[in-house]
Amino acid sequence: MPAIHSHSERLSAEAEEHLPGGVNSPVRAFRAVGGHPIVIQSARGCEITDVDGNTYIDFVGSWGPMILGHAHPKVIAAVQEVAQHGLSFGATSPREIELAKAIKRFYPSMDLVRLVSSGTEACMSAVRVARGYAEKPGVIKFEGCYHGHSDCLLAKAGSGAMTLALPDSAGVPPSVTQHTYTLPYNDLEAVKALLAEKGGEIGVVVIEPVAGNMGLIPPQPGFLQGLRELCDQHKLVLVFDEVMVGFRLARNGAQGLYGITPDMTVLGKIVGGGMPLAAYGGKKALMEKVAPLGPVYQAGTLSGNPVAVTAGLTTLEQIDARPELYDHLEKLGQQLQTGLEEILQGRGRVQRVGSMWTLFFTDRPVVDYASAKTCDTERFARFFRGMLEAGFYLPPSQFEAAFLSAAHQPEHIEKFLEAARTVLGARL
Ligand SMILES: *Cc1c(COP(=O)(O)O)cnc(C)c1O
Repeated sequence: MPAIHSHSERLSAEAEEHLPGGVNSPVRAFRAVGGHPIVIQSARGCEITDVDGNTYIDFVGSWGPMILGHAHPKVIAAVQEVAQHGLSFGATSPREIELAKAIKRFYPSMDLVRLVSSGTEACMSAVRVARGYAEKPGVIKFEGCYHGHSDCLLAKAGSGAMTLALPDSAGVPPSVTQHTYTLPYNDLEAVKALLAEKGGEIGVVVIEPVAGNMGLIPPQPGFLQGLRELCDQHKLVLVFDEVMVGFRLARNGAQGLYGITPDMTVLGKIVGGGMPLAAYGGKKALMEKVAPLGPVYQAGTLSGNPVAVTAGLTTLEQIDARPELYDHLEKLGQQLQTGLEEILQGRGRVQRVGSMWTLFFTDRPVVDYASAKTCDTERFARFFRGMLEAGFYLPPSQFEAAFLSAAHQPEHIEKFLEAARTVLGARL
């Protein structure tokens, strides 16, 4: 019997009268896959329930934060407890220090940490600090990587590798992106060539060390190491945007997994345990540039919010308490990947690092934005809708990563594969 979505449809129509596109963040609108978005009532463990009472096995995990699963009892209890004592003070409270210490324990590359309220804010601020330190305006980023929606990082590639980036959004004047260079992901030669020509103007390289915002694209062997070496040679500040991969691929994220130490790290998503919290930090010499110690201004009324800090801190404590967590996630990931590949027989590619994965509807390796764009997005949309109907909530776009959590168990993956066999066999 097909699921009923009448309440979701009514609410999303009402939402459209009050919120642009009916949503508070664009990908939630299901534009890439068609149909009405489902409206969510609640979530628990690896399951999410819509307002019509349909329950789905969730592979979005709020786009990454919910590594412990939804509504983890310890996190909820800690948040409820702390909320009774006031929601915000605008002054330092003890748990902020505890969270900074915990972050540094997971990420030894960070000597000083600043807490902020979103990944966008953290990336924007980290780049400002890095530029303030380097005293050169140029920033290299990579096509298809997302570092939040601050103006200078909303840039797409210009017409040639040597040309300046163009704004990737209306409302961003070209004068704001004029110091941003956008190069193809995994292309070290392009970085070398740009530095040979414009090295004197460039101070910062920012990258998703495992790309998750064009679908899941791992760094090719030697790419991150090569970037590190180029940054050392040219005295550039290397910023790892680990907002998505931090605490997810390993305790200390991509830098731990690949053994590359950046100068600065940006964290978000998991570090807030589902609340609006993010962080940036790095080497002491860099972070001493931040106000009030140094000349780089950055501030926030709700920064280090006690409720958000408690959600983040409790999440990190739970990660600490489960030494087998990353093994569990890797095993589930392997089960899912092997199963899907067997069903696909080459009619699509599963790319995965640990608990992050994307099924790309293409037969070639996806190594950068250009190869990601070869995917058959219509086929993805049919797959998405078929799986939703079967009770599985996937990211509603080909160009997003899906997530596993501690709450997923082998039987959930088994059910997912069973449904995928039917959906991929019958409709695609
Ligand atoms: C989600 C994300 C951001 C932006 O974080 P928000 O909290 O949505 O502002 C930045 N960088 C990466 C890599 C992300 O995945």
